[in-house]
Amino acid sequence: MHVDSRELLERTAAHAAEFLAGLGSRPVAPGGSTAALREALGRSLPEEGMDDVRVVDELVRDTADGLLGSAGGRFFGWVIGGGVPAALAADWLTATWDQNAAMHACGPAVAVVEEVTGEWLKELLGLPGAASFAFTTGAQSAHVTALAAARHKLLADRGWDVERRGLAGSPAVRVLTSGHQHASIDRAVRLLGLGTDQLHAVGADAEGRIDLAALERELAAADGPVMVCLQAGEINTGSFDPFEEACALAAARGAWVHVDGAFGLWAAVSDRHRHLLSEAGGADSWTTDAHKWLNVPFDSGLVFVRHPSAHRAAMSTRASYLVHADDTAAEDGTAPARDQLDWNPEWSRRARAVPVYAAIRSLGRRGIAAVIDGCVDHAHRLVAEIGSLPGVEVLARPVINQGLVRFTAADGDHDARTDRVIGLVQRGGAAWFGGTTWNGVRAMRISVVNWRTDDQDVDRAVAAVRAVVG
Ligand SMILES: *Cc1c(COP(=O)(O)O)cnc(C)c1O
Repeated sequence: MHVDSRELLERTAAHAAEFLAGLGSRPVAPGGSTAALREALGRSLPEEGMDDVRVVDELVRDTADGLLGSAGGRFFGWVIGGGVPAALAADWLTATWDQNAAMHACGPAVAVVEEVTGEWLKELLGLPGAASFAFTTGAQSAHVTALAAARHKLLADRGWDVERRGLAGSPAVRVLTSGHQHASIDRAVRLLGLGTDQLHAVGADAEGRIDLAALERELAAADGPVMVCLQAGEINTGSFDPFEEACALAAARGAWVHVDGAFGLWAAVSDRHRHLLSEAGGADSWTTDAHKWLNVPFDSGLVFVRHPSAHRAAMSTRASYLVHADDTAAEDGTAPARDQLDWNPEWSRRARAVPVYAAIRSLGRRGIAAVIDGCVDHAHRLVAEIGSLPGVEVLARPVINQGLVRFTAADGDHDARTDRVIGLVQRGGAAWFGGTTWNGVRAMRISVVNWRTDDQDVDRAVAAVRAVVG
C-alpha cells in the first residue's frame, strides 16, 4: 500500500512516457523468452503487501523484455493499431474515475459522453442516423450483439419469441458468407446457439469478395430465416464486398445483412476511400473497432443496428434494484437518459466511450481521414517496395491498408522460404510482419493501421526485409 497516490501516479506517468519515447529505438519483437518472463514475474503468492512504488517499478522492469512493440510505427502484424495521445490520456482518466458504465445512474457524465460519441460515430461512418449503437469490448462481442438482434428480428417475424422460448424447435437460421469471414463471425454463430452447421460459404472472387450470383442462388434456395455476413476489409487483402448489390438481393428475400467492418468501415471517413463502401449503409447491422484504425487503446469495439427495437429486445434487462433511466421522468422534459445495459451484452463495464470521444475531438474528421489516408499510402509503398526486391512476389496489392507478398525459393518450396523470411525479419527487431495462408499458399501480411507509422518507418521496414532477402 501507498498513501501518497500523487507521487505514485506521477512516477507511473514517467514510466509510460519513457516507454513511448523508446518505441522508435527498441526492437519491435519481444526479446525475452517465456521462461525468462515466468522467472521474472512468477513469484510465489505474496502474504504481505509491499510499497506501491516498488510494485510499479518492478512491473515495468519485469515486463520490459516481453512487450511487443505493437504501439510503435514499425509493427505491421495482424490489424492492431496504436493509441493517439488524447485517447491514451482519456483512458487513464476513465480508469481513475472508475465509473460503472452499466447505467446512466451509475455515472451520468460518462453515459452522456457515450450518447454523444455514438451520434458522432454514425455521422463519421455514414450510417443511418436512427440506428442504435453499443460500445463493446471488441468486434467479437459487437458481432454477438448484432447477430443477437438479427436472431431476434428474423424469428419474431416468423412468430417465434427467441428470448423466451430459446432455439429448441425454432426455424433454423441460415448464415451466408463469402467463406472469407473473420473467425469471430463463426464464434458469434456458436455463442448464439445458431450452430456452425448453419454457416454456409457461398463463394468468393480471387480477392475474397462474395460471389453475387452464388449469393442470389443460395438466398433463393433457403426457405427459412437468413443472415448474410459481409465484410468491409477482408483480413488478408482488405477487399470490400459489393454491398449495394448484396443488400438489394438480401432485402428482396427478407434476409438480415451484417457488415464486419472491424477496420474497413473507417474508410467511410476518407474522401479518397469512401467509395469502397458503396451502399454499406443499406445493411441492417455493422461492427467496427475503435481500437484498430481510430487508434484508441484496447477494449473498444462498436456495433450499430438499423432496428433499435430488435437490438434492445435482444440485450435489455431489468432488475428491481436498479434505477432505469426510462422509468424516471426527466425533470425538465428532455429526452430520457440512455442506459448502456439496454444495448450491451455486459452489465458492469468501464466507460469505454471516453477515449473514443477524446480521439474524435483530438483528430477531428479531417485528422481521422489523414490517419486513414496515411496508412493506405504507407501500405501501398511497403507492398510496392518489398515487392520489387529479388525473389519477392506480390500476391495482393492493397485495396486499402492490407497487402500480401511471398518469398520464392529456388527449390520451389516457397511456403517454407516465406515462413523463414518472416521469422528472420521478426527476429531482426527493426520491423514486424506476420504470416498467413491465402488461397492455399503462405504469405507475409502487411497491415498498416498505426497513426505513428511515417515515411522513415516504411524505409526502415523495407531495409529490414532487404537485409534478409539480399
Ligand atoms: C480484428 C477483427 C475482428 C475481431 O475484432 P476484435 O476487436 O479483436 O474482437 C473481426 N473482424 C475483422 C475483419 C478483424 O480485423
